[in-house]
Amino acid sequence: MRHSELFVKTLRTPPKNEESVNAKLLEQAGFVQKLMAGVYTFLPLGLRVLNKIENIVREEMNKAGGQEVLMPALHPQDNYIKTGRENIDVLFHIESATGKKMVLGQSHEEIVVPLVKHFISSYRDLPLSVYQIQTKFRNELRAKSGLFRGIEFRMKDMYSFHRDEKNFENYYAKMQEVYSEVFKRVGLGERTYLTRASGGTFSKYSDEFQTLTESGEDMIYVCDKCHTAINDEVINDFKKCQTCGNSDLRKEKSIEVGNIFPLKTRYSDPFGLTYKDESGANKPVVMGCYGIGMTRLLGAVAEIYHDEKGFIWPENLAPFKAHLIVLGDSAEARQKTEEIYAILGVSEVLFDDSPRSAGEKFADSDLIGIPLRIVVSEKTLKEDSVELKRRDSRETKLVKIKELHV
Ligand code: ATP
Ligand code: MG
Repeated sequence: MRHSELFVKTLRTPPKNEESVNAKLLEQAGFVQKLMAGVYTFLPLGLRVLNKIENIVREEMNKAGGQEVLMPALHPQDNYIKTGRENIDVLFHIESATGKKMVLGQSHEEIVVPLVKHFISSYRDLPLSVYQIQTKFRNELRAKSGLFRGIEFRMKDMYSFHRDEKNFENYYAKMQEVYSEVFKRVGLGERTYLTRASGGTFSKYSDEFQTLTESGEDMIYVCDKCHTAINDEVINDFKKCQTCGNSDLRKEKSIEVGNIFPLKTRYSDPFGLTYKDESGANKPVVMGCYGIGMTRLLGAVAEIYHDEKGFIWPENLAPFKAHLIVLGDSAEARQKTEEIYAILGVSEVLFDDSPRSAGEKFADSDLIGIPLRIVVSEKTLKEDSVELKRRDSRETKLVKIKELHV
């Protein structure tokens, strides 16, 4: 993509009235634009990062046997009356032109259970795992910290269906590993902890994936020996690490990037989701659910991968692989850079073809944070070369044009 085609401009200074790093930097670098508190537009650069994160998650969910669907965001309120959740605080209520009461999807248990009920009748139909990556709406009281707490945000939600607790537990254990792999692939592996948390009404505990960050809203107790943690809200129940018994736990601020939850028959029961076992007896389906906050995850990566000049995106999430920059107004340099742009393949290269000064171009490049910077000028061309610099290093080196690839 060419700078001259990019309609978004970076800002010289961070937006005012924002405190969290992700809100400040993502807006300053032109990745997102705030419409109102908790509601953001994803601009071309930000959307490219979000798509890369979503594709990693999609690959891992597919590997775990998940089948992708896309459920509606608009739900009949009746489904929530069935589960007794029509009055939960985060639910947005609306009424259609015909007077039908509806709500905006804040999660999809009430939709996925009646959906799979159409298709599950026998033990042969189980286990089953269904997921989607979709926009959720929550009437959050404190929409703040940029992408961390949205009123509208993206979530990956997966639901699994099993014949019994044992079958569920095997899958749940597997999903813990799948989640660890997801967070590793997006560059959050080291800072993300499998965390014991309270489970709400229908299960005693749940497992959260918490990423250490100063802008986080949660407090966790981290065990350095086995890389797990305990949420502040249940620390009094435990006091020491549940995995290795270590009582020397470190208190840290964190953000919940994902969680996995046993649902038992909490949602199968109200919708009568049952199956016939081998003897023909009707049994309730046992469920689990598995969420990842996709936009929150992007925010967490942004909080961590930056320095005072801007972003330093991990290779596989960066909006582009290389930032190609031409300096000066020599026609020859411009022509040569056009050729390099075509050879490298335009899909993963951002080409700064603007007439701005070197200083402005470098500042922008550091702010946007693409991993590799390639500079072409009359000076480098005298050596048939370009100048390479990685965003995470100070070193520059000249490389012959014919040896260049990204
Ligand atoms: P929290 O405790 O942060 O409110 P939650 O327990 O309500 O999260 P879930 O309903 O399980 O979260 O949603 C699954 C995932 O979606 C969470 O782990 C989190 O990463 C993300 N998420 C939840 N609420 C929001 C929000 N308002 N904005 C952005 N992401 C969110
Ligand atoms: Mg919540």
